[in-house]
Amino acid sequence: MTNTAPPSRSQPPSPSQPPSPSQPPSRSQPPSRTESAVALAGALRRIAATDRLLLALDFDGTLAPFVDKPRQARALPAAKAALDRLERMPDTWVAYVSGRPLSSLEQVTEADADALLIGSHGVELRFGRDGDSLDLTEPEKATLARLGELLGAIVDRTPGTRLEVKPVGFGVHTRNLDPDVAARTNAAAYDAAATVDGELTVRDGKDILEFSVRGADKGDGIERLREYVDATAVLFAGDDVTDEDGFAVLTRNDVGIKVGEGDTAAQFRVADPETIATLLGMLADARGERVPD
Ligand SMILES: [Mg+2]
Repeated sequence: MTNTAPPSRSQPPSPSQPPSPSQPPSRSQPPSRTESAVALAGALRRIAATDRLLLALDFDGTLAPFVDKPRQARALPAAKAALDRLERMPDTWVAYVSGRPLSSLEQVTEADADALLIGSHGVELRFGRDGDSLDLTEPEKATLARLGELLGAIVDRTPGTRLEVKPVGFGVHTRNLDPDVAARTNAAAYDAAATVDGELTVRDGKDILEFSVRGADKGDGIERLREYVDATAVLFAGDDVTDEDGFAVLTRNDVGIKVGEGDTAAQFRVADPETIATLLGMLADARGERVPD
């Protein structure tokens, strides 16, 4: 259908700005809730018709409501049901994209062997039956090994510390130390890390100092998935600040949906995981009706 009609002039005025016949509406004004909902429905119909569709979804706060015990988080049943339907459709891929370590993400998503998983904010990837991909280069492996030796020695000689081995780095835990001992331990860890060849990403957290040989974000992960499945369009939804890296790599063929409050580069915003579940159901209906060429 081709719609050549001019835009309707009978739309209700925005509550925040009285109608002014002599002035077009400001482009900087956010669209009303209704317009956003209509535009989002249209975007879902459009993306449902794409040849090769990748659904990349954050987990916590997007598919699953937040719970006190992270291990007990689960996708809403309606979301899970819609994703199960979509996953079985031809030329359609479902991927979970999370800050959780891959092993944790695997557990809470109850993912099967075909699932595409991105953990640790884009550092860890699992491409279904093609296996895990961490793709550490030989220099990165050498950096990791040397870093482990040096940090291990510091932890060994500092009672109360603990070394956490991570997929691409190490965390030095100092929770049980006097503050001055913790500060000295961190300084020693920084000094040791500075002697290692290769670039390190450092995250100074609460009672933990983390060193990684690989810096990555959700945008990197989505780009890897897009390439892997040769997607013609991507739908990405997320609720957190780190999901902005994902929205940043979307193109005009893609659909980005921010869940909840906060600044975002996403085209669309919805209130909660319940709405995401509803949208996924709509998408599954629309894609199910599509007849591939
Ligand atoms: Mg989240």
